[in-house]
Amino acid sequence: MSNLLSVRNLSVQIGAGRPVDDVSFEIKPGETFALLGESGCGKSMTALAVMRLLPPAARLIGGKVEYAAADGAARQLMALTEAEMRRMRGGGIGMIFQEPGTSLNPVMSIGRQIEEVLDLHLGLRGEPARRRARELLDAVGIPDAGRCLDEYPFQLSGGMKQRAMIAMTLAGEPELLIADEPTTALDVTIQSQVLDRLKQLQRERNMGMLLITHDLGVVERMADHVGVMYAGQLVEVAPREQFFSSPAHPYSKKLFAALPERAGRGQRLSTIPGRVPPLDTQHVGCRFAPRCSEAFADCAAIAPGWHAQPAGQQVRCHLYDPARMDMRQAENTAPPATAAHETPPPASPLLEVRDLKVHFPIRKGLLQRTVGHVPAVDGISFSLQAGRTLALVGESGCGKTTAGKAILQLVQPTAGSVQLGGVELTGLAGSELQPLRAQAQMVFQDPFASLNPRMRIGAIIAEGMRALGQREGVPERIAELLEQVGLRADMATRYPHEFSGGQRQRIAIARALAVSPKLLICDEPTSALDVSVQAQIVNLLHDLQQTLGLAYLFITHNMAVVDYLADDVAVMYKGRIVEMGNAEQVLGHPQHAYTQTLLAAAFTRMRGAA
Ligand code: SF4
Repeated sequence: MSNLLSVRNLSVQIGAGRPVDDVSFEIKPGETFALLGESGCGKSMTALAVMRLLPPAARLIGGKVEYAAADGAARQLMALTEAEMRRMRGGGIGMIFQEPGTSLNPVMSIGRQIEEVLDLHLGLRGEPARRRARELLDAVGIPDAGRCLDEYPFQLSGGMKQRAMIAMTLAGEPELLIADEPTTALDVTIQSQVLDRLKQLQRERNMGMLLITHDLGVVERMADHVGVMYAGQLVEVAPREQFFSSPAHPYSKKLFAALPERAGRGQRLSTIPGRVPPLDTQHVGCRFAPRCSEAFADCAAIAPGWHAQPAGQQVRCHLYDPARMDMRQAENTAPPATAAHETPPPASPLLEVRDLKVHFPIRKGLLQRTVGHVPAVDGISFSLQAGRTLALVGESGCGKTTAGKAILQLVQPTAGSVQLGGVELTGLAGSELQPLRAQAQMVFQDPFASLNPRMRIGAIIAEGMRALGQREGVPERIAELLEQVGLRADMATRYPHEFSGGQRQRIAIARALAVSPKLLICDEPTSALDVSVQAQIVNLLHDLQQTLGLAYLFITHNMAVVDYLADDVAVMYKGRIVEMGNAEQVLGHPQHAYTQTLLAAAFTRMRGAA
């Protein structure tokens, strides 16, 4: 079968650096090629270069992109005029982006936006276009497609917006789909449904797909071939089975090692030290050398070439160069193991939640009269002991975040009891809650949104201490906390925007620890982070629990992290806990149909799972 897309030696320059450097791959009709790597490795820049949508600072300096449509005509995309290229985008080649909110027009109805594409690429207008738009919304699994046609983007949930975006992209009947992190912003079950739908549509239309992701689970589910990118270069290209059975490049192995898995419960996750170099870095030698645990003398000085492996893998690494193998024995890259943690539970629970309810009023009319209630949390009960982790899992909207806030009295419970250290919290107000704030803290999903951008880090960390009246030794405590979470004491004078996502989450954890709490409620603390950064934060939380004896209520939809970190699991569905128990038992032998669905959807690679 001939190639639908052939990318040859593609190179992009920004300043003195090459964020895309000599990248080559091909995609056949009906096949998916996944570009995998951390943020900033050049994956999206590669897709933008293929589509000729590079940002102004970037310049294409070499390479060919050939697109061979089903009509038999082969086109060199780099040689097309801008008008021809515009017809290609959204026509033969469709694109889906991570954040549908930025791609949908907020002031046009969904139907109108799809009809516009149908008009532009297929010349379809009026009633036939509306009928086709409805069929497309049906095809991507939007439940009430007729109503959705007249809705605006703000009326749709994240999952629905992403489906509408896919419908709009499919309206141009693309033969090639470029999907850049298409499901990263979605819940695991919605993610699963959207990926299933994409796969089905791909089969029906024999569509080729360039899939950009940092998620190994998505790659395993979708890809036929995998290309791992690091610092602008492909470093490994392999058929999916080969890649997952024996990843070859040290960077690929590190990506796998950073994944939480049940077999490693209680051990530190392997992390990738350091960070992806900035896009404008000029490189000498192997780009991964500063982070590679297998590097040897030649690595820093000589750039590695490609080496073919018998099973069809291509690897850009000196370890696969027979001429250099005698210079170094490959090291065992197994992640350092530490003793498994077994914290014997004390007799009385730190946190005891009984029949907790939060019902939000539905108000209507001019006078905003209450006409009913939404039961966001509908009678949940559990207990949590010091030094233990309880994971509260479920999709968005199931009530788990509201439950976390209600426990901390950040939203008022409608009914039920919350006891922390034997003290009843419901009904307390204002200054009565001060002692609670010292015992229980919350860490949020988006560390950037939760840190005041106008305050220095030191002041942010000190806020809680000062609120509790602590005046003595504050600078020393800030320095100690920053070091405890793996940052330097001198960083206290910087502002949040000067830090990466992972560092900001460390700062948020330091702020929470400032008042020496016994309980941390962590609301999706790793979901906005790359897998390697996620591993660092999960390790940090694990270490802090070991040294400080903290209890964690871990609110998440990431089953891999649950599998790794949790002692006990409570599964929430529509405001209620539908299953609860020991993590081994709930994850290994789920009893409730919803838990089974949730686990089936949690395709994130869980090596070692039963
Ligand atoms: Fe590591 Fe050297 Fe291979 Fe680069 S070439 S990945 S530094 S072993």
